[in-house]
Amino acid sequence: MKIIVTGGAGFIGSNFIINQIKNTDNIIINLDKLTYAGNLNSLTEIENTGRYTFYQADICDRNVITNIILENKPDAIVNFAAESHVDRSIDGPMEFIQTNIVGSAILLESALYYYKSLTNDKKLKFRFLHVSTDEVYGSLGEDEYFEETTPYDPSSPYSASKAASDHLVRAWNRTFELPAIITNCSNNYGPNQFPEKLIPLMIINAIEGKPLPIYGSGKNVRDWLYVEDHCDALYTVLTKGELGETYNIGGNCEKRNIEVVNEICKSLDIIIPKQDGLSYSNQITYVEDRPGHDFRYAINISKIYKELNWQPKIDFSKGINKTIMWYLDNKEWWNSIQNGTYNQERLGLTI
Ligand code: NAD
Repeated sequence: MKIIVTGGAGFIGSNFIINQIKNTDNIIINLDKLTYAGNLNSLTEIENTGRYTFYQADICDRNVITNIILENKPDAIVNFAAESHVDRSIDGPMEFIQTNIVGSAILLESALYYYKSLTNDKKLKFRFLHVSTDEVYGSLGEDEYFEETTPYDPSSPYSASKAASDHLVRAWNRTFELPAIITNCSNNYGPNQFPEKLIPLMIINAIEGKPLPIYGSGKNVRDWLYVEDHCDALYTVLTKGELGETYNIGGNCEKRNIEVVNEICKSLDIIIPKQDGLSYSNQITYVEDRPGHDFRYAINISKIYKELNWQPKIDFSKGINKTIMWYLDNKEWWNSIQNGTYNQERLGLTI
């Protein structure tokens, strides 16, 4: 297959591209605007394999996007491109509206224009896969789970913009018969994640001797999905999923934020014990909660398991150790970010 990946210089997109180049014969075209979150250093190991091409492009730029699609004639488009950080969506929602909603609509229009130009047998093969989040479903109480049929109830400008993009994809499928599929996944973790997100932020702050800021009580629950498992799930959906369907993807791994941070500290205590003999958990500090902070996300993955035979393989203790080791071994990757525009500062307070 020839696959156009949008947002392939970001966290999940770069892992997806590496996974594809290593485990398939597919050809990948990466189309990324290179915002603060895009980092081509994440892709150095595959950039010279001959099956990878990069275009710096904005999904909001219709002519450029349409030309790239027409020129490359892909069998599939996988849309990762997005503004992805809830806290930044509180500080500046309009960028989220622009990329996540307007950009998705433009990408759909360009994909449809291309799709209509295909011969019938090429049309049968073509897929548009839209990567979205479980946050579109809003917040759960203690013992419910998100199903594919759970009504949308987003809380943040980020999740509202992703919800809007999901609706657009569904509309382009139902109205214009664009062969599209949507996935909604839980919190990913693993290599190449920008250090504003909980897990890399805690690893980096811990080893730099900085406070480990926990929002609110630390009791909020998230489901954690190792990024490699997510990439496998996405390829499974791309190759076996039903057109027009939605698949929830999760790690079967619910944890309170404070538990996640304690596990990181425990692992670091073993891997690189502090010279003063204290645990990294002494650096934990509780800070003001995120406005509109959803309490709990949890995913029922029985649809993708029963229909496509996919389930996560990497448990949290293995995944978190792989992640910690990656950040310890790749200091230059995150040092270059720290020397740019971000230094682990608090984002997303309304006042
Ligand atoms: P990320 O922020 O790490 O990467 C986003 C990438 O998109 C960056 O490379 C950025 O340069 C690019 N981009 C942004 N605006 C663009 C534009 N207008 N045109 C082209 N490229 C643009 O995000 P991520 O964590 O890799 O998330 C990827 C996708 O998965 C997003 O759609 C996100 O909503 C979704 N998702 C992520 C998670 C998670 O835990 N990270 C969970 C659920 C869903």
